[in-house]
Amino acid sequence: MGKNLKCYEHPTLDAVGVCSICGKGICDKCEVEIGGKLYCKSDADKTFGTQRAKAPTVPAPPAIPSRAAKGGVGPLPFVGIIFCILGLFIFPPVFWSLAVIVSHIAQKRVTARPDYSRLDYLICVIPEAAGALLLVWWVFTMIPLISQFLEYMFGHF
Ligand SMILES: [Zn+2]
Ligand SMILES: [Zn+2]
Repeated sequence: MGKNLKCYEHPTLDAVGVCSICGKGICDKCEVEIGGKLYCKSDADKTFGTQRAKAPTVPAPPAIPSRAAKGGVGPLPFVGIIFCILGLFIFPPVFWSLAVIVSHIAQKRVTARPDYSRLDYLICVIPEAAGALLLVWWVFTMIPLISQFLEYMFGHF
């Protein structure tokens, strides 16, 4: 196919192929693909009937190839739950903060979708709230410990 071959119907548009029957250049608006072959509109109509005026030549690309767009909550809330649990054993403030962050991101993504369900929302909010509560609880249990530690290290001020 020559680079400057133009569509027989649209002389300003570059042809993307040639008709298998008449051999004329056809642009992407005019091409009709049937059984893997390209045809111009009039030959496609003559050969295959008028109902197939324009067969989709390429499968429509997914509008947003995002996993969240397909429904569901994605892996983030579950990562949040895992972080909540990990924080019970190691580096509590680090993992619980991470739990809050990832669940919050998940919650924002889910609520941005028009079709999110209450369950999706809950799945995201539970680790977020749990992480936040655990952090608050941790801070309150640490305050007396830290003051005891400071007292031990530096004596009374
Ligand atoms: Zn043709
Ligand atoms: Zn055309």
